[in-house]
Amino acid sequence: MSQDQIHTIPARKGAAARLNQGQIVTVINTHGSQVVDTWAFNAADMTEFMSMEHSRAAMLRVNPLVGDTMRSNRRQPMLTLVQDTSGGIHDTLIAACDRFRYEQLGHVGHHDSCTDNLAAALSAIGLEPPETPSPLNLFMNIPVHGDGTVSFEAPVSTPGSSVSLRAEMDLIVVFSACPQDLLPVNGAACRPTEAHFRIGDGGQVGG
Ligand SMILES: [Zn+2]
Repeated sequence: MSQDQIHTIPARKGAAARLNQGQIVTVINTHGSQVVDTWAFNAADMTEFMSMEHSRAAMLRVNPLVGDTMRSNRRQPMLTLVQDTSGGIHDTLIAACDRFRYEQLGHVGHHDSCTDNLAAALSAIGLEPPETPSPLNLFMNIPVHGDGTVSFEAPVSTPGSSVSLRAEMDLIVVFSACPQDLLPVNGAACRPTEAHFRIGDGGQVGG
C-alpha cells in the first residue's frame, strides 16, 4: 500500500496492510464510535504476533497509553502507541467477536465477525492467521470496576479522532471494523460504521 493514502476499513469488515519497521499507522475513528480490532504479525513469521497478555505484563496496564509498546508472544516490541486524540480508552481484555458470540447473543443466521474479518483480510493478501490472537481493541470501552467486574460501554472517542502506532518490526497489520450490533460497544445506536487508516513514515506522526 502506498504511503499517505487514506485506506478504508469498510463497515463490518476488515483490511490488512504491510508496515515497515519505523512506519506509523494512524487509525481514524471517522464517525466517532467505531471499535477497531487490531492485530499485528511478524511479516517474516506469522506465528509471532502481537499478544495482549504479553503486552500487559510489560506495560503493567490494561489500557495502553501514549509511550506504551505492545509486545509479541515472544515478548518482542511490535507496536508503540505514539499519539492518541481519541480520549485514550482502549481494551486489551476482550476476545475478538466470532460466530459463537453472536449465536450466544441470540442471533440466527450469518453475522459478520472480527474473527472472520481477520481471516478474510489476510486471505486477500495471500496469508492466513496461525490462530485468532486476542486483539488490541482500539476505542473499545471496557471499564474495570473497583470490585473487579468489567462492563461493555460505548466508546468515548469522537468523529475524526485517531490513534497512531509505530511499527517496531516489519509487520502485517489487520484492522476490523467490529460488526457488533447487539451490544452498544460501537455506540448506543448499535450501528457499526466504516473507519479509516493511513500509513506514514516515522518522521511525522500520522503521515
Ligand atoms: Zn468484533
